[in-house]
Amino acid sequence: MADRAHISNIKVLMYHRVLDKPPRKNSNWHYVLTEDFIKQLKLIDALGYTTITFNDYKLYLEDKLTLPKKPIIITFDDGYLDTYEVACPVLIEHNMSAVIFAMGNREIDQACWEDLDDTELCPLMSSDQLRSLSNLGFEIGAHSMNHYDLTKLRDEEIFKEIAESKETLEKILDEPVHTFAYPYGSLNKRVKKMVEIAGFSFACGVYTGPYRFGDDFFDLRRLAINYHTGTSRYLLRLLLPFQYVEWLYHKTRSNGRLHQNQLEIPKLKKIIFEKTIG
Ligand SMILES: [Zn+2]
Repeated sequence: MADRAHISNIKVLMYHRVLDKPPRKNSNWHYVLTEDFIKQLKLIDALGYTTITFNDYKLYLEDKLTLPKKPIIITFDDGYLDTYEVACPVLIEHNMSAVIFAMGNREIDQACWEDLDDTELCPLMSSDQLRSLSNLGFEIGAHSMNHYDLTKLRDEEIFKEIAESKETLEKILDEPVHTFAYPYGSLNKRVKKMVEIAGFSFACGVYTGPYRFGDDFFDLRRLAINYHTGTSRYLLRLLLPFQYVEWLYHKTRSNGRLHQNQLEIPKLKKIIFEKTIG
């Protein structure tokens, strides 16, 4: 059973595509190779983590489920066809679950926001495929209707993007959708509030939000995993309190008073050491 320390340290990993070979257009770095993905899942397993979903976490909060000793959450943004064809079969083979954030507008069948040309398509999965993953125990979350940067829209448009994606996906899945992921990890107070009003229980950003899991359910920090993460950097993300390291890095960069190269390394090492051991 998980103790408090493990729960406040739950890591949420963010993936996009899982591909057998690199895309032809190398500017799209939001992918990992299948062979690396398999190695990463083996590391998760070897380090004693058990994958859970936000739905599981909700049941835990409602006292209806006990969490495993070392829970971890794997997420996939956008609902790519390769999530269905490549990533999920590998996850099933490893007895792992994940959360997939899909678009509410089901007429979008390509990730057209990914700066595409004709030679590089990013197909998304169908509603039937989403439904079958949901039946297999994967959690389907919402990623807005059209993948706009919500902070750039008017209030009524923001709410429409959020609330309609929940409604549409719930109709398709015939079950409640509890979790939202902000397109581009972009949010502000208004956007966050509207996600809450729309009836979601959790929402994921990327580099924003507190470092402790559960301190803000509507701005859950995630660790981005891309092709350049590889195995060693992945291991660091699992072993170190990496969400704290990234939080500290962005905090010192954004407040302008202290830049990364001014951060005293011995001090940072001490913090990391204490966070890891304690
Ligand atoms: Zn996205």
